[in-house]
Amino acid sequence: MSEGRIVVDAARNPSLDPQDWDAFRRFAHELVDRMVDHVRDIGAGPVWRPLPDEVKARIATPAPAAPTSYQALREDLEALVLPYSAGNAHPRFWGWVQGSGTPGGALAEFVAAMLNSNCGGRDHGAIYLERAVVGWARDWFGFPPTAGGLLTSGSSMANLLSLAAARAHYGEEIRARGVSGRRLVAYASAEAHASLAKAMETLGLGREALRAIPVDENYRMRLEALATAIAEDRDSGFEPFAVVATAGTVNTGAFDDISGVADLCEREKIWLHVDGAFGSLVRLAPKLAGLADGIERADSLAFDFHKWLHVPYDAGCVLARDEQMLRAAFGGRPHYLASAGGLAGGEPWPSDLGLELSRGFRALKIWWTVKEQGVERLGAAIQRNCAQAGYLAERLGRNPRVKIAAPVALNIVCCRYVAPGLDGAALDRLNGAIVVALQQRGIAAPSTTRLGGRLCIRVCITNHRSRDADFDALAEAISEIGARLAAR
Ligand SMILES: *Cc1c(COP(=O)(O)O)cnc(C)c1O
Repeated sequence: MSEGRIVVDAARNPSLDPQDWDAFRRFAHELVDRMVDHVRDIGAGPVWRPLPDEVKARIATPAPAAPTSYQALREDLEALVLPYSAGNAHPRFWGWVQGSGTPGGALAEFVAAMLNSNCGGRDHGAIYLERAVVGWARDWFGFPPTAGGLLTSGSSMANLLSLAAARAHYGEEIRARGVSGRRLVAYASAEAHASLAKAMETLGLGREALRAIPVDENYRMRLEALATAIAEDRDSGFEPFAVVATAGTVNTGAFDDISGVADLCEREKIWLHVDGAFGSLVRLAPKLAGLADGIERADSLAFDFHKWLHVPYDAGCVLARDEQMLRAAFGGRPHYLASAGGLAGGEPWPSDLGLELSRGFRALKIWWTVKEQGVERLGAAIQRNCAQAGYLAERLGRNPRVKIAAPVALNIVCCRYVAPGLDGAALDRLNGAIVVALQQRGIAAPSTTRLGGRLCIRVCITNHRSRDADFDALAEAISEIGARLAAR
């Protein structure tokens, strides 16, 4: 021992830590600087660039037998990784539903990785942070004190866990013996997210057991059609076990009438799950919060921190109005995980509330982002995105060839470029080609969807970096590219 340090014979006691900590520290500092610049300047580059074949080939090389130097790692990062991200951190990315991230959230992710916490359970700080952020969500959505939940990879997983909890609530014996002939059915609107059908497949119920209820002209689930479907199923010997209301559909941002669905579920004694992946977060934006009225009556809720709250991927959440409902579906631990107090305490373990045992420390980047920004600023960013959707729709509408394809209920604008003399199928191809051109030229990244069978350009604004000028640029580019392609 000298100066309080343990002197290690590195040759006889090797580890995977840096052999030269000072060199590692310099490398780490440089990398932080590089990434701060990257995010600060991201709007100056293209939104996306396709990977050249040569880059794909360089990425797909075999694992090295020997160590790679920091210098070579850094060169790989510059050549193979940094130029080719999907672009969702860019101010003109509006595809699918994706968050922009924040540099603060990324710093938290770094700290979490340095701690290397495993959040399946046990008694350590990370578990208490997870409970704290789940508690924040409970308050945001007006769930009762009995509520509990779990951080997940996203809403796909949260939807699966919720439907599994609903199923267990309906028949405890299902955990032991499987569904065994019971004909359990669930309901969601025809606009509901595809992860729900996957969840039904995974649960062994089959995707046909998820009844697709038609929507009205505002893309909201028709309540009378839902009531009829439930009655018909009961008459035919099916067991309705869950209704899913969507708070913010992925196509158009529509909100089902959650209160109306909740009344029906109460009468029928059916579990109400709300898929609020992004839309439920309007609860943080005072002018929009009313859209999600009734969400506090749900038995379970799925939502994402990584979409409209911009926590770095991945970070979703499942919330149940009674934590016991998740424990009833997933609880129970074998001897080697039993609690004898000490480090093995900290009941309940997150692994009792879901499928996974080993789990990362997602709570830190959520906790950090919400603390760093404050709830008001996060809510204002949501509100701003919806105002921007209104601005974009108005801006696009100045060109008589651009038709707004669905009511702009939230933050999503679906539009279609129409050129005289082209039939529906030709216009589908034209609009698809406009989106590809926008992406390939790195101008902007909207995505596509179909409404009423027709392909549209879909602009989903879950982006805190977008400015008015970005929407002007998009509207101009659609007009210019549309006219050029239509002339061919
Ligand atoms: C994004 C989304 C999902 C899936 O969530 P992931 O976090 O991508 O797994 C489910 N439902 C809706 C309405 C969504 O927008």
